[in-house]
Amino acid sequence: NTSLVWFRRDLRAFDHAALHHALRQSKSVYCVFVYDSAILAGLPRADRRVDFIHASLAELAAELEQLGGHLIVRHADAAEAIPRLAAELGADAVFANHDYEPQAIARDGAVAAALQAAGRHWSSHKDQVVFERAEVLSQTGGVFSVYTPYKNAWLKKLLADPTVLIPYNIEPLKAALAPGRSVLPPLAELGFEPSNLGQLAIPTGMSGAAGLFEQFLPRLANYGVARDFPAVKGPSYLSMHLRFGTLSIRHLVRTVLDLMARGAGGDGAQVWLNELVWREFYAMILFHHPHVVASAFKPAYDAIEWEAGGEADAAFAAWCEGRTGYPLVDAAMAQLNQTGYMHNRLRMVTACFLIKDLGIDWRRGEAYFALHLNDFELASNNGGWQWASSSGCDAQPYFRIFNPTTQSEKFDGAGRFIRRYLPQLAALGDKEIHAPWLVPRMLLEQRNIVLGRDYPQPIVMHDEARKRTLERYAVVKKPG
Ligand code: FAD
Repeated sequence: NTSLVWFRRDLRAFDHAALHHALRQSKSVYCVFVYDSAILAGLPRADRRVDFIHASLAELAAELEQLGGHLIVRHADAAEAIPRLAAELGADAVFANHDYEPQAIARDGAVAAALQAAGRHWSSHKDQVVFERAEVLSQTGGVFSVYTPYKNAWLKKLLADPTVLIPYNIEPLKAALAPGRSVLPPLAELGFEPSNLGQLAIPTGMSGAAGLFEQFLPRLANYGVARDFPAVKGPSYLSMHLRFGTLSIRHLVRTVLDLMARGAGGDGAQVWLNELVWREFYAMILFHHPHVVASAFKPAYDAIEWEAGGEADAAFAAWCEGRTGYPLVDAAMAQLNQTGYMHNRLRMVTACFLIKDLGIDWRRGEAYFALHLNDFELASNNGGWQWASSSGCDAQPYFRIFNPTTQSEKFDGAGRFIRRYLPQLAALGDKEIHAPWLVPRMLLEQRNIVLGRDYPQPIVMHDEARKRTLERYAVVKKPG
């Protein structure tokens, strides 16, 4: 029998659930990736994610050829292309890994139905998370909506059954791969042009992911401390690889647990593992509560009236373009716009600023992040934005409002991150750089900085904005 493995956000040829099951159950296995025209249509011509996929597919194809197979690549509406290709190849079954996003679930449902109508089989597997859907439940069998008890139950379940981390071997089964030559369309053929991904030296593919993880491991022990300071190389920078599956989550978790068991991970190992659990928590929330895509997790928060109209549009544009007059916020937005990455602390700061200083609907910020983040993931992005707007599960209470200047002093005390992205403020001292509007004019002039010319005046005063936010949120009867 013949099978087709449909690669989506799992661009690797090792420890791959769908590929493993297909190889075990079939005599001949074809592999395909579809550049989904429905998704590509909404993207700018130079998109780092398309670039990343393009480069990662070249490595995947080479690796599959090395194993004796090849990669078929199509540019089409995936929902139509997959059943058509299965028919062309005479495949009895299509194998893929689970996706938890509502649109992807609908698309997979349509593909499964089309296959079934033609007498073919759809076989889908857990791969991108350690635990999915309803695998981690409370003692009363309910779905968690608070992170800490979820995390505790997640860890308990894993320790009770670490076999979930056993890798899906491909090598011993490779003989079933259908040989052939991979033909990969150049970016231009897809209607895209190169982004600055190469210039940024963002590593792609399985080798890129492995290299980043290797570099991160010596930093792991200190992760808990270093992760909050955007000027420091603290986090792993693996999010884009987790997004596109160029690495295996089972491998990451296994490595961290092994280090912990040997007492080698320091305090950082547990903290980092907790972050990987956040990712699964949000995926689980999205799966069980798909309404979060369009509205607040907690419905009472949908009653909030956001700023709208010309002034709000201008404030939103200033936020997007990093022209708010708050250096940490502006430097963070410059990091996002120039590189597609934003440090986690800064995602929290900029999101809170948009919502609670500018009074703008969190969904507008969420959409901007979705378009620009290299690691954009619906579940985590939505979870992060709903956390910041206090409307989500386990969100911060609405009356706890980040002060952007204090955050700057605390997490970029010496202004190193700000100077990297706002060179026009580089001459300001470490104490001055966080709030240039408070610096005496004479001193600014000595530094050759004119506010309004070289750098904007603040578009809002935080203390006043804070009061307005508390009033705005008063419609929500129960805080937090
Ligand atoms: P590390 O600190 O090394 O963490 C390791 C991994 O854990 C990450 O790669 C990620 O997969 C996961 N992780 C870490 N923090 C979180 C978190 N808070 N929620 C869920 N998973 C987490 N993450 C995304 O992957 N995609 C997004 O679209 C996204 N949007 C966000 C929007 C907002 C407003 C906020 C506050 C956070 C968002 N995050 C998102 C979470 C987090 O900021 C990024 O995962 C992290 O900054 C990626 O960098 P890293 O790989 O170096 O992380």
